[in-house]
Amino acid sequence: MALPSAPGSRRSRRPGEPIRILETLPSAPPRFLADDGPVEVSTYPGGRSSALVFTNDDIHKLTDPARVQRVLDVLGRHGVPGVFFVIPGYRGHLPIESRDAIAGLLREAVRDGHEVAQHGLTHKFAGGHNLGKIGYREFHSLPAEERLLRIFCGREILEDAGYEVDGFRAPGFSLDFETLRILEQQGFSYGSNGRLHPLRRGLSRRLPESQYYPFRLEGLSMLEFLCEGDYFHLPWRRREVMKALTSRFGEYRERGGALVLLSHLEPLTSNHRLELLDDFLSEAVSPDVWTPTLRQFSRWWVAREALTIRTRVTDSTLQVHLDCPAGGPMKDVAVSFRHPNGLKNYEIRSNGSGVLARGPLNGCRVLVDLS
Ligand SMILES: [Zn+2]
Repeated sequence: MALPSAPGSRRSRRPGEPIRILETLPSAPPRFLADDGPVEVSTYPGGRSSALVFTNDDIHKLTDPARVQRVLDVLGRHGVPGVFFVIPGYRGHLPIESRDAIAGLLREAVRDGHEVAQHGLTHKFAGGHNLGKIGYREFHSLPAEERLLRIFCGREILEDAGYEVDGFRAPGFSLDFETLRILEQQGFSYGSNGRLHPLRRGLSRRLPESQYYPFRLEGLSMLEFLCEGDYFHLPWRRREVMKALTSRFGEYRERGGALVLLSHLEPLTSNHRLELLDDFLSEAVSPDVWTPTLRQFSRWWVAREALTIRTRVTDSTLQVHLDCPAGGPMKDVAVSFRHPNGLKNYEIRSNGSGVLARGPLNGCRVLVDLS
């Protein structure tokens, strides 16, 4: 049995009313049940204590593959996969197609462990002229059927180009609750639709602790990942940006949270920003930090929430029973023993796999795979 993340406010909403995700964050971090017994199961795989996800927005049919390759080269040096949010139908008439050079590069990247996710359909708001800042906020105040159509068509274009699509980020973070509901109905497993801007530090200080973890909005089962950035867009010197970014990541690490880093190709591949990314990853990536794609992260999180842990003692052996009823399989589940209390041995079992591990209890941590 698991405790789901605390729900946000449940007041009724007007159709098309924008969601201010930062105001609907649950008040508390997620809690996993049954972690207070003689064993502890880590939040992330391999017993890692925090997570870092790199995301990049706005790739489309006309994007120069060489620029994406430069980002992939930096990520590759650090063994970090990226999540690339692709605009499926750029300008409304330029769908990304399987034969496009950029599509081929991204398919290769996916084979190497990166992920492609959906970034609206056209990125442009179609509702009128002279819209100023909301011109790029595609999902701003659209009728429900048009939102559904854009989500559906966008996903089809990406699938035709050779990608499996699990996640969605609304262009310009133009989200309302109905869009989330449509995404859930369409089988998306996660969204990343809220953003903390690096310059709004005062605002971020008022946010609840749940901002550091994946969460759910108003009873939906789809996970949401708040993202941070774009630090590469800041008009500061490299050393100052590096300081702000590492300090922010330090806040996530302190809480065992997950930083989802937002970037855009435009500033990232210009003005030495790639060197900044290289520097940051050199500092941030360590064996203690998990660096998944968002698909991997959401699958793990759903399974981790549903994981149950039962213990009993038989003949000085601590028997641990792990059951993963949803989301699995789970690889590298780290089990630590807290209070051996004179017990000599442990044995870990699961419903699906029988005995997973056994041995002497000497305060060690054991990694097991659950099917
Ligand atoms: Zn965008």
